[in-house]
Amino acid sequence: MIIVLKPTATESQAQDILKRIEDAGLKPLYMPGVERIVLGALGDERVLQKLNLDANPCVENIKPILTKYKMVSREVQAHDTVVRFGNASVGGNQFAVIAGPCSVESEQQLLSVAEVVKQHGAVALRGGAYKPRTSPYDFQGMGVEGLKLLKQASEMLNMPTVSEVMEVSQMETMCEYIDCLQIGARNMQNYALLKAVGESKKPVLLKRGLSATIEELLLAAEYIYDAGNPNIILCERGIRTFETATRNTLDLNAVAFLKQKTHLPVVVDPSHGTGVRELVIPLSRAAAAVGADGIIVESHLNPGEALSDGHQALTGPMFQQLMQELKPFVEAAGKTL
Ligand code: PEP
Ligand code: MN
Repeated sequence: MIIVLKPTATESQAQDILKRIEDAGLKPLYMPGVERIVLGALGDERVLQKLNLDANPCVENIKPILTKYKMVSREVQAHDTVVRFGNASVGGNQFAVIAGPCSVESEQQLLSVAEVVKQHGAVALRGGAYKPRTSPYDFQGMGVEGLKLLKQASEMLNMPTVSEVMEVSQMETMCEYIDCLQIGARNMQNYALLKAVGESKKPVLLKRGLSATIEELLLAAEYIYDAGNPNIILCERGIRTFETATRNTLDLNAVAFLKQKTHLPVVVDPSHGTGVRELVIPLSRAAAAVGADGIIVESHLNPGEALSDGHQALTGPMFQQLMQELKPFVEAAGKTL
């Protein structure tokens, strides 16, 4: 429920109501505005009704939050959340480009591609050290050695990093080396992991599950928020459909829909969304046009040699071309690159 107080309501009246909400076993929310204070109460709505807040003279009106997700909803917070890590910010007027290899493979591979993407305007470096691979025989990532290389690249280039955490047991090490924790598509409904990243307070890039609905994605984000972490970036990375021509079907509906329903920033992953290098630039343009807050793209200076996802990696010159072609679309959407 959202409880809008009258402009004349005082701070102490607001605190009294918050206490009653808390005493009833509900989660209180405090949202002071310029003109009036807005409160929220999350939990069993029947309990809230018993509090009879309508009768309180400082309450102007009470509105139910109609969606299942609450704190990530625009009904609770109208303005856009901006997630900051290192010198990068995602959300608001900036269109953020996060780029780097699918997997960290070696010092030379990571540093060389990081330099190129940084030079052309990427604001953060991606790279997987723990890789969720469909086959157990495929490259599983460099583990902690990969994390160390990411940290080294980050310090050399003054560029924050994004990397996937696959298990709760990896959290401590990840937090030591990485600036933004990626939850991969396969782990979107790993609730223990969602709670762990929620408790950590590190920015989180939450990818949509392979067959997850938009509501399920938002409820996964709600888990992280509810555990205490509001620094969440949502990522549309393509879903499973009947179509087999491309690896996944990039759901741009989801981006426009999410931008209406949630205040969290939304980025697009056209690399996994298409699985085809040649389609990454056109779908990146589309992401900017539809109102995304950024993209996360895979890039490799020698994709033929890549240990994972080489077929969808942009080469150095293609990354440069991407940045040039993005600019007018980002500007048309009212953002800056
Ligand atoms: C990745 O980013 O390399 C990755 C494994 O992504 P996803 O979880 O979207 O498949
Ligand atoms: Mn990949």
